[in-house]
Amino acid sequence: MELPEKRLPGPFILRNHIKLDEDSTSRAVELPYIFIRGAHPGPKGVILATIHGDELNGIGIIHELARRIVPALFTGELYLLPVVSVPAYNLQSRYLPDRRDLNRLFPGAENGSEGSRLANLIWKNFVENTDFGIDLHSASYSRWNYPHIRGNMRSPRSRLLARSFGHSLIIHSQGVAGSLRKEATKRGIPFVLFEAGQVNRIEEDVLNAGVEGLLNVLHNMEMIPEIPDGFHTGEIPEFYYSETDWVRAEAGGLFYPRAHPGDKIEKREELGIITDLLGKELSTVQSPVSGHILGFNQHPQVVPGRALYHIAHTPKPLR
Ligand SMILES: [Zn+2]
Repeated sequence: MELPEKRLPGPFILRNHIKLDEDSTSRAVELPYIFIRGAHPGPKGVILATIHGDELNGIGIIHELARRIVPALFTGELYLLPVVSVPAYNLQSRYLPDRRDLNRLFPGAENGSEGSRLANLIWKNFVENTDFGIDLHSASYSRWNYPHIRGNMRSPRSRLLARSFGHSLIIHSQGVAGSLRKEATKRGIPFVLFEAGQVNRIEEDVLNAGVEGLLNVLHNMEMIPEIPDGFHTGEIPEFYYSETDWVRAEAGGLFYPRAHPGDKIEKREELGIITDLLGKELSTVQSPVSGHILGFNQHPQVVPGRALYHIAHTPKPLR
């Protein structure tokens, strides 16, 4: 099936749905999408959110981005998918109704499992013919991530895409098998992930950081003529972090964070403490490396081994 807008001349912005499947009440499940075709031919892109059904920041980012694009001043084509995993979104859950993670099932199969069919529909209609892709995520339950870019920095085209956000925190990560990012990059499509904030929220700061980064990407690709008022042109980052590690709790009790995502830290710097229930300090949380805090655990109750801080380290030049 060909989407109806494929043959329409630009410039226009279209808001539509494509039938995904049927739910167990025999009703159609439909995927919402926004399509922008500019006045002139140019790059084709796709920006997707909510592959994990409880990661909602990306929906807000896409809504705000769509409001900022003027089709008559736009070059190329852009698909915006605010909610990819509609079944998981309806459950307010990361996972699909059959407990599978949609982001392990790409490129999917037409006659596969329910998740595999959904992955395949996304892949065929929006991904396989795109020139670049950006996937919007948030930290998993009880964690918060500072806005950053993840991608395979060994792929020169993904590296260029990551740089074009104008955002200083870039992490090398190949992604796991079956993730949209890994499977697309493997087939030569530059694809990176914008990771920010927490689940079950649309956070204003995260939304602004995401929209600004995406506007920078579109501007660097010459798809929009200028960065709209109220947003900044990013700086070209000089390096990416090649490694990340978790700092884990060494005692059970209550975690009091002192350092926060976005902070630059030194080796052996104190990041927080763990106390018992009477307030007595049991353990100091120290960074094993110098680096940049990407994310942290927001839940105060911890046990030994609980991941507390996600730290990016070992910078490498981006050029
Ligand atoms: Zn996610």
